[in-house]
Amino acid sequence: MNENMRKILDKIKEYKKIFIFRHFRPDGDAVGSTKGLARILKLTYPDKEIYLQNADFADYVAFLGKEDEILPDEEYADALGLVLDTATQDRISNKKYALCKELVKIDHHIPVQSYGVCEWVEEERSSCCEMIAAFYSAFKDELKIDKEAATYIYTGMVTDSGRFRFREVSGETMRLAGLMLDQGIDADKIYAHLYMKEFHTFKFEAYVLKNIRITENGVASLFVTKKMKKKFHLTNEEASASVSYMDSIKNALIWIAFIEHDDGTIRVRLRSRFVTVSELAERYRGGGHACASGATVYSKAEIKALLKDADALLKDYKEKNEGWL
Ligand code: AMP
Repeated sequence: MNENMRKILDKIKEYKKIFIFRHFRPDGDAVGSTKGLARILKLTYPDKEIYLQNADFADYVAFLGKEDEILPDEEYADALGLVLDTATQDRISNKKYALCKELVKIDHHIPVQSYGVCEWVEEERSSCCEMIAAFYSAFKDELKIDKEAATYIYTGMVTDSGRFRFREVSGETMRLAGLMLDQGIDADKIYAHLYMKEFHTFKFEAYVLKNIRITENGVASLFVTKKMKKKFHLTNEEASASVSYMDSIKNALIWIAFIEHDDGTIRVRLRSRFVTVSELAERYRGGGHACASGATVYSKAEIKALLKDADALLKDYKEKNEGWL
């Protein structure tokens, strides 16, 4: 247990009302960690008022169930805000977080911005859910958990670690995942929910696979236009998932999906093996993890520029490192 975890538990004990926040366009980890922590706190402190206060949701983990409605402004003034999985305040989905009396940050992204009265940031953790599992484990004698909380947490651990495949996965990750499994969760069911796809998504996948491009030095990319989304009846979330279609092309150590949104902005999802892409993302209004980052661009010219920069980055990496796949 570290000192920050203890400070956070003390803060939680100080407050009667606790609101839990996460980043916008949430992923399985953002949803799982917020729901998991809320459930642990509700079980442990039945007299406290614990609410999830988020402005958006993630369809692909909708099986985890519904969330609380956003409460009126006046409810925030005496609340402690716990912000999970969110590196910078501008990425918090519900802007009313600023009305909370105090904020606490719990995160596993590269720490580009410090905020809140206490912070616990561990960028080497494979997920924020892993941190919540570690939090529970550190205070096992005080905190309560059940199958429901463990299901939320395990789901986020699975999704953010690429099914326990990414480099950040450690022995500790597996021990904590084991602790969640010990609560009697149905992992088979969780995986079924995560892997099942709609038929139209398969058709889209086939189309995308035919249209992947690759730069001279091996940057794979695809561009999902508004027109394509309409043709295949895709939500932005389904379109965004296409980045994973490129994750196993030999020599393509960087792969990027560009998703055109209805307002004309183009969301960029950058992924890589071994090569750090977060600095590249930062140059295009983004950030994230070393091998999984996001950014935003506004034109085809910017797509071209980003691909050129990514290609140069990969060229440099390949020249300096041997034995890449
Ligand atoms: P995504 O491709 O949106 O799943 O993003 C990959 C990772 O980068 C996630 O951990 C995001 O939270 C993070 N990320 C995405 N966009 C940004 C951004 N604009 N600034 C900072 N981090 C981001």
